[in-house]
Amino acid sequence: MDRTLSMKSATMTSRAALADGHGGFVLEDIQVHPPGPEEVRVRLAASGLCHTDHDSMGWGRPLVLGHEGAGMVESVGAGVTHVVQGDRVLLNWAISCGSCFQCQHGNHALCEKHSPVAGVDSLGGHAHSLATTLGDRPVERSFHLGTLSEWTVVRQEAVIKLPEDIPWASACILGCGVMTGFGSVVNAAKVQPGQSVVVLGCGGVGLNVIQGARIAGAFPIIAVDVLPKRLEMATYFGATHTIMGDKGDLSLQSVTQEVRALTDQRGADVAFEATANPALGEAPLRLVRHGGKAVQVSGIEEVVSMDMRLFEWDKTYLNPLYGKCCPERDFPILFEHYRQKRLLLDELVSRVYSLDELSDAFAHMLEGRNAKGVVQLIPESPDGPFGSKSVK
Ligand SMILES: [Zn+2]
Ligand SMILES: [Zn+2]
Repeated sequence: MDRTLSMKSATMTSRAALADGHGGFVLEDIQVHPPGPEEVRVRLAASGLCHTDHDSMGWGRPLVLGHEGAGMVESVGAGVTHVVQGDRVLLNWAISCGSCFQCQHGNHALCEKHSPVAGVDSLGGHAHSLATTLGDRPVERSFHLGTLSEWTVVRQEAVIKLPEDIPWASACILGCGVMTGFGSVVNAAKVQPGQSVVVLGCGGVGLNVIQGARIAGAFPIIAVDVLPKRLEMATYFGATHTIMGDKGDLSLQSVTQEVRALTDQRGADVAFEATANPALGEAPLRLVRHGGKAVQVSGIEEVVSMDMRLFEWDKTYLNPLYGKCCPERDFPILFEHYRQKRLLLDELVSRVYSLDELSDAFAHMLEGRNAKGVVQLIPESPDGPFGSKSVK
């Protein structure tokens, strides 16, 4: 009997973390149906946690949580040619249509048809809505993915083939946190060798800004945080200098002085804000030289009032989405950096949780305990969840 076909027709029961829309979540069994044309059904192996997952619980509607994931292709719909059953894949939420105004300008994460945050229709990049159901009602998947679930169905553009040598937990975080940090340096700020960089906040995204800056050849790379343990990690990931911030000094007077002392009294070429603290929204402008770039990578969306003289003179303030990710270009680059041991992924995963421990995982993230917390949905195994990869 053709096992591929029999598996393809089955509906899977999948334990999933469902946002209640009011800031909480429940673990429930949902139904995950066979993929439609140009869609892929994936058995999730690991899912990274991002602050956005925590925010998304309060978006006013139920959804399957999670937008950083890696797993195994279980079946594919008609017209899918770039992956087959048994392939290890990374899930990616920047699904480009390739033809709209933004895609034509290389802004794939801003795709007007498919982007979950910048698109005209927030469901444009989804697999068909009845692919995941609770009872007989469709249930939406966060960022087109819904990775905090044992199974999901996504559009074919959302899956990127993973090399065999990246463990699940290390791979899954590539699909948001790592890409956002690295891409903000390389694609957005376009940091050049020898440029001076400051990074405010050394959590999951900040550490990836730091390693992006190291890979780009920046010097000095100055890390600022209020926790000594995070500054230690910053050094491990590539910071050349560290500054202990003072929680009570939001205008960063002493930090500014120290940064100036390290940059010929000029200020840094580029400063990244990765604290998610709205009170520090203006901070990167303080730390850059005339003509320098301030980059906000933490997703601050609150009202921030600031002295416009902070822009003097000729400064640029960037707010890149997903590190201006172009999936086909960027993920192979990240895989290669990992292989060459330039991009540290295993070291970013502070702790692995089961789905049942999701509340703890969120709590630890909010306390700043982890660089990255990852929910492992199936254990690492050379054969994957379906046994031998030669199943036909
Ligand atoms: Zn597009
Ligand atoms: Zn994210």
